Amino acid sequence: MASKSRPRSAEIFRRSEKILVGGVDSPVRAFRAVGGSPLVIERAEGARLFDADGNEYLDYVCSWGAMILGHAHPSVTKAIREQAAYGTSYGMTSPLESELAEQIASAVPSIEMMRFVSSGTEATMSAIRLARGFTKRDLIVKFEGCYHGHSDSFLSEAGSGLATLGISASPGVPEAFAKLTINVPYNKLGAIEKVFELHKRGIAAVIVEPVAANMGVVPPEPGFLEGLREVTLREGALLIFDEVISGFRTALGGAQSIYKIQPDLTTLGKIIGGGLPVAAYGGRREIMQMVAPIGPVYQAGTLSGNPLAMRAGLATLPHLWVPRFYDELNSKAARLADGVAGAIRDVGVPAHVNAVGSLVTLFFCEGPVRNYDDAKQSDTTRFAAFFTAMLDRGIFIAPSQYEALFVSAAHTDADIERTISASRESLRTLLAAAPAD
Ligand SMILES: *Cc1c(COP(=O)(O)O)cnc(C)c1O
Repeated sequence: MASKSRPRSAEIFRRSEKILVGGVDSPVRAFRAVGGSPLVIERAEGARLFDADGNEYLDYVCSWGAMILGHAHPSVTKAIREQAAYGTSYGMTSPLESELAEQIASAVPSIEMMRFVSSGTEATMSAIRLARGFTKRDLIVKFEGCYHGHSDSFLSEAGSGLATLGISASPGVPEAFAKLTINVPYNKLGAIEKVFELHKRGIAAVIVEPVAANMGVVPPEPGFLEGLREVTLREGALLIFDEVISGFRTALGGAQSIYKIQPDLTTLGKIIGGGLPVAAYGGRREIMQMVAPIGPVYQAGTLSGNPLAMRAGLATLPHLWVPRFYDELNSKAARLADGVAGAIRDVGVPAHVNAVGSLVTLFFCEGPVRNYDDAKQSDTTRFAAFFTAMLDRGIFIAPSQYEALFVSAAHTDADIERTISASRESLRTLLAAAPAD
């Protein structure tokens, strides 16, 4: 199949590159990991994106998971339109904030109190500040391959050897900050025990994606989250679930409802804003009451609880409460995951599918993929070729091996079948291009 012609998109991107760093406002959009000319999108509807040349793409990025109902869902669009006429920002409390907060808390009972912010980065950054303020400790433990936004404390990587203090993963992050973050491998409880032995009474919090989705999808192994809950309780550290992706994605109550673990704090984002910039952090009342103005831990935001965004969230969540919403979404995703796994077997490419609910990743390695070290075994050159072959067939998956593919309620069974055939064809082109050894 011929590649889609995108002359106007390319021209717009060249213009963007002159004024926007890398032509983008978030690095992954520049397609550096896969090559080729980045998409320039003008319109989206349902499960489809339309580029500046009028080409249509079946979208499995779904704004990185935010668009669980699909794009431009009529009830979300209507709510935004109505609210716009009432004003777009008040700089004061509106009734919409408590309304959305109550809906969130009734779905996620570990959240007794919460605060809205405008991005997932802000939510996780605020949650660890709060954890440090509450415990009067400084160290944060995170897992290699988990992403918690771009604040300084999270841009650290594992130092040499297991359970050592972190080193900066980006210029501009002082080593002094990076040292306060400890990186350990996902799904390895032994490493966590060791960290607590080494840094007893120093650790404020353990933060984890309860279903990892930023190294590709990696489910927690049985006992892993339970073990984190146990050790944090025993050692007086807080357990923070970063459910910015998994919240309202894996289930109405998030991953914590599936694995039946109560974290002390939870961060949410993406879905709760219905495609507008909203995120939140919340949890135990006693901890949340440390936040200003009740408590001394400072955190604020000019556009926080933005009424337009609250309305988009309020128009989105009721659809998720519909009985069988998640069963239907997950069974479509399971069909996709099984179909792609079947294509892998038929074509004979070394690859492995991980899936949790409506999150799916095709790793170009043998598997199993249980942590970041495993994920990094993937052949990213092959992934790039696969990505391009899929895009040529009008199917847009995330332009990086280390991301999830998101199925939305707007994807139809026919879309899923078309995606499976396209993946079979695309896998075949890989072998034609570079025969497996
Ligand atoms: C996307 C994401 C974030 C960051 O959210 P932004 O809104 O991009 O700042 C944090 N944590 C997880 C798990 C995410 O997937």
